[in-house]
Amino acid sequence: MDCIFCKIIDGEIPSKKIYEDEFVYAFEDIERASPIHILIVPKKHFETILDIKEKDANLIGTVFMAANKIADKLNFGKKGFRIVTNCKGDGGQTVFHVHFHLLAGRKMLWPPG
Ligand code: AMP
Ligand code: ZN
Repeated sequence: MDCIFCKIIDGEIPSKKIYEDEFVYAFEDIERASPIHILIVPKKHFETILDIKEKDANLIGTVFMAANKIADKLNFGKKGFRIVTNCKGDGGQTVFHVHFHLLAGRKMLWPPG
């Protein structure tokens, strides 16, 4: 499948790995939107979060547990952080393999642009 994140997960395209377990792979975003900008990506390919159905719903918990561990590992849990997932055109999604942006290292703005 011609998917850039599947290729990153398979190691065909290099990435700066931050965390990995059986279900998710996390790496540094190539175009940082904050001092710490990590993408947490389910290893299973789903185009958008709307494609995650009941039988795979526990994957979302795994993603947030990964974020929890990364916050601990990189020591930004105390200050706080943001998790964002963009869905389709209005959400601003550009890569169609589900991923969660983990942003930290600066005060975030609200509302987001
Ligand atoms: P989104 O726009 O929400 O779909 O997010 C896609 C993200 O993937 C963007 O923040 C890009 O900077 C990031 N990205 C695209 N290609 C790569 C890559 N090869 N390595 C790391 N991050 C990437
Ligand atoms: Zn994929």
